[in-house]
Amino acid sequence: MRPIKTLIAAFAAIALGLATPAFAQSKGTVGIAMPTKSSARWILDGENIVKVLKARGYTTDLQYADDDVPNQLSQIENMLTKGAKVLVIAAIDGSTLSDVLAQAAKAGTKVIAYDRLIRNSPNVDYYATFDNFQVGVLQAKSLTDALGLPAAAGPFNIELFGGSPDDNNAFFFYDGAMSVLDPLIKSGKLVVGSGQTGMTKVSTLRWDGATAQARMDNLLSAYYSKSHVDAVLSPYDGISIGILSSLKGVGYGSGKTKQAIVSGQDCEIPSIKSIIAGEQTASIYKDTRELAKVTADMVDAVLTGKEVVVNDTKTYNNGVKVVPSYLLKPVVVDKSNWEAVLVGGGYYTLAQIK
Ligand code: BGC
Repeated sequence: MRPIKTLIAAFAAIALGLATPAFAQSKGTVGIAMPTKSSARWILDGENIVKVLKARGYTTDLQYADDDVPNQLSQIENMLTKGAKVLVIAAIDGSTLSDVLAQAAKAGTKVIAYDRLIRNSPNVDYYATFDNFQVGVLQAKSLTDALGLPAAAGPFNIELFGGSPDDNNAFFFYDGAMSVLDPLIKSGKLVVGSGQTGMTKVSTLRWDGATAQARMDNLLSAYYSKSHVDAVLSPYDGISIGILSSLKGVGYGSGKTKQAIVSGQDCEIPSIKSIIAGEQTASIYKDTRELAKVTADMVDAVLTGKEVVVNDTKTYNNGVKVVPSYLLKPVVVDKSNWEAVLVGGGYYTLAQIK
């Protein structure tokens, strides 16, 4: 029993319209399944969603799965057992969740795919993400702009890296990038020295920087002992850092050997520092605060029977159905605008970067 004084105070507060009553009920629990803490972006994603959902009166159950698929599965099962009303899932492997999502549907739990599409399941209600094809376009443009293409004569040597083959986004990034690079490869202005193109050859399992570094080491020793690689398409900052370590290892960026142009994604702090130091060329900024807001709006709408706001009902076919999506806009960040975008926009403080 609540002490009578607390009840009186709470009723007085309601009567005066002053405050949320002390016994306000949670609007329900939202399970949030994130892939890994090894990349800063997912830590920010988790923090941002929890903040927004709590402010709107929900209880949150946030879990990270160490990039381990069975671990993520059991975390999601647990969320269901504990009665989550909505699941927000950034999948590690987008095609392994069909069974647990069937359980969710049976329990009446709604599912929102967060950032990464969940494939092969009819039980994905909505998808909140960025325009992933456009991310790839911007990554490629950051390379071609820095090389002065399409005006420059070239030819320039380029190598391609893709993201994790179990993440649907990786294919969108690659296809977006190739929509810019392919015509230049065909015209001979860009030359893939290794000849390695296509996601089966260039993907990087679990977006792992060390895996990318090892592949770059191999490419350099097999194809560039007598020539220079001018640009490297990298889909994610952690991979860019690995590629740059490899390049630095053979003297790029020192003496007479020019640094290669390297793209990235997520604006993680080590990469922003690298951009400022003149190493990485650019990254892609995806404001996870905005993604958290869009997701929270979806949660609110599904649980209150309101219309869920989406802006794309064509692009994201998950193999079973087209999942209604909300796509946010990605932005290129480089030496010229990092401070205005990231610090000016309140994403980072200057002290975090310098
Ligand atoms: C995300 C990217 C991120 C990558 C690696 C992708 O699904 O969309 O922002 O760089 O995963 O974590």
